[in-house]
Amino acid sequence: MIGRRAAKGDQVGRRAKRAAFMGIGLLILGIVLAACYAPYIDSELAMWLDPHAIVDVAPAKIAKGRMVDDYFAVEDLGEGTFAIGEPRYYQQNYSYLIVGASRAILFDAGSGTRDISAVVAGLTTLPVMVIVSHLHFDHLGGIGPFADAAMIDLPDTRADVSGAYFRPSRYEYMGFVDGRDAPSIRVSEWLAPGVTIDLGGRSLRVLSTPGHTPTSVALFDPANRRLFIGDFIYPTTLYAFLPGASLSAYQATARMLLGMLPSDTVLWTAHCCRRNEGVSAPWLSMSDLRDLDAALTLVRAGEGRGGGFYPRRFPVNSEMTLATGFPWNNR
Ligand SMILES: [Zn+2]
Ligand SMILES: [Zn+2]
Repeated sequence: MIGRRAAKGDQVGRRAKRAAFMGIGLLILGIVLAACYAPYIDSELAMWLDPHAIVDVAPAKIAKGRMVDDYFAVEDLGEGTFAIGEPRYYQQNYSYLIVGASRAILFDAGSGTRDISAVVAGLTTLPVMVIVSHLHFDHLGGIGPFADAAMIDLPDTRADVSGAYFRPSRYEYMGFVDGRDAPSIRVSEWLAPGVTIDLGGRSLRVLSTPGHTPTSVALFDPANRRLFIGDFIYPTTLYAFLPGASLSAYQATARMLLGMLPSDTVLWTAHCCRRNEGVSAPWLSMSDLRDLDAALTLVRAGEGRGGGFYPRRFPVNSEMTLATGFPWNNR
């Protein structure tokens, strides 16, 4: 009897040990998976941890330029170019309307919180084609009212076409962060990287600028030395930790731009705000791009000052911070 009880006790002990080992194994596996898929897990948790809303600011003039519909801020940048901001939206993002003699380009369609097409119609009567800087919801969400949309011609964007429609994937659009569904778009023109768009009397060069996302786009206006650059670089915190972000692509793009653009080019970016300028069209200079390149060199070598847990934050200069995932994410 005693022997049988001892044997039973041994069996229970072995089972408990096995369960403990399995528990520890599962815990380690869970930690490894969470670390590997941190950009996706962090994105999915964002809507629960950090709910967003329209910024609750008093009506009237809350940004530089002319307020339209008490929501959009329109700033005339000269040379037939207008910045259209959404200062009430928590992302405080800016789109750009670039007008030629025969047609116009809207670079980014805004978040879609309000109808940006009415603002555009008030600024030009020419045909307008929309090009988005990238597929995130705060730049593509407002595209619905526009019939003409162009898309950069890359394998990743072509892969989003089904039948007659283009629809970005969950982690390309990221609209779940705000509870927004991705739009389906008819692409009227596919733009090869490097191609020049003729607007009549002025032209824009389409550049593939991966880093923030793999399919990001910039437009270069050589006559006016302006680069419309989307979320690749802007004042405040650069998001290099979302799904699809890549520090090596970021740096390759920064160096490509530093090599090809005149040193007095002004970078018109997509999120506000510069220090000390209030809410206004956010611009940066080529020296900011050089500072980003230098910061990327340090961060990629594991020598960046700063850090933290997730995302890790590294100073770039007085206008910018670079936020990245763990060292093995977003390489
Ligand atoms: Zn973005
Ligand atoms: Zn954005």
